[in-house]
Amino acid sequence: MDQIAYVNGSFVPLAEAKISVLDRGFLFADGIYEVSAVLDGKLIDNASHLARLERSVGEIALALPETLDRIREIQKELIARNGIENGLVYLQVTRGAAAGRDFAFPKGVKPTLILFTSVKDIVNAPSAKSGIGVITVPDIRWARRDIKSVALLAQVLAKQAAAEAGAGEAWMIEDGKVTEGGSSSAFILTQDDVLVTRQNSSAILPGCTRKAVIALAEERQLRVEERPFSIEEALVAKEAFITSASSFVQAVVTIDGKTVADGRPGPMANRLREIYIDFARKTAE
Ligand code: PLP
Repeated sequence: MDQIAYVNGSFVPLAEAKISVLDRGFLFADGIYEVSAVLDGKLIDNASHLARLERSVGEIALALPETLDRIREIQKELIARNGIENGLVYLQVTRGAAAGRDFAFPKGVKPTLILFTSVKDIVNAPSAKSGIGVITVPDIRWARRDIKSVALLAQVLAKQAAAEAGAGEAWMIEDGKVTEGGSSSAFILTQDDVLVTRQNSSAILPGCTRKAVIALAEERQLRVEERPFSIEEALVAKEAFITSASSFVQAVVTIDGKTVADGRPGPMANRLREIYIDFARKTAE
C-alpha cells in the first residue's frame, strides 16, 4: 500500500506530496514541527505536543492554518489511512510559499501544513534492552531552543557525529553542562537517588516526554531536581537516560566511550520506561 501524506488540505500518496521550492520552510527553515508517538494505533501524549505546537508557532508569530482540533483529526485520519499500529506522526507548519525570497513575513500567504507517518516499534526497540551510547558535542544552536523550529542543522551534525562514532545520541554541551540530546532530553540518577534534568528555559526544548516522566516520578515520591549537570557528574552517576516521543525512556550506558555505572541499563531507567509505557497506553487517544 502506498503511504499517504497530508499536504495543505489533501490526503495524497507520499510520492505525489509536493510543496513549492519557494516554501519558506525550505528557504529559511521558517517553520515549526512536532512528532507524536503512536501505540496500538493511538496517539501518545498528543495534547502536550499540540500545546507545544501552539506555543512554538506563537513565538514566531505564525498562524496555524487549521485549528488544533482539526489537526488532531488529520493526525488520526492519517494513522488510519496508513494503518499505523506503532510509529510516529510528523507534522510541520511553515510560513508558506511567497512570490520571492524576502526575509520579512509575506502578506496574505497561507501557511503550509504537511503531515506524514512512519512505522516504529518503540516499545520493543532493541536499544531499549541494550541501552545506548552517547557522545558529547558542543551545543552550537541558536538562543531560542525552546521553539521547536525546523532549523535542525546543528542537530543533524551532532547526530551524524554520533552515528559515525557508533553512538545512539549526541549530548550537547554548553558552559561545561549538558543542555540536552540532539533529539531527546537528558537525565541522570545521582548516587543519592535524585533524578536530575536541566530546567526548562530558552536553552532547551521543553520535552513532552520529559514533562510526563517528571510528573510520573514525582507522583511516586521520587526526588527530582531540575538543574544542569556536567559529564563528570553523569560519569559518576548511578544511571543516565534520555526521553523523547520517539524513544520514550532509553538508558544511556556509555558517554564518550566511558561506561555509566556497570555499562548496563539501570533499574530506574527500566522502571521509568515501564511506568511511561503504562501511562502512554492508559492515556492514548
Ligand atoms: N530535545 C530536543 C532538542 C528534541 O528535538 C526533542 C525531540 O525531538 C526532545 C528534546 C524530546 O522532546 P519530546 O519528549 O517532546 O519528544
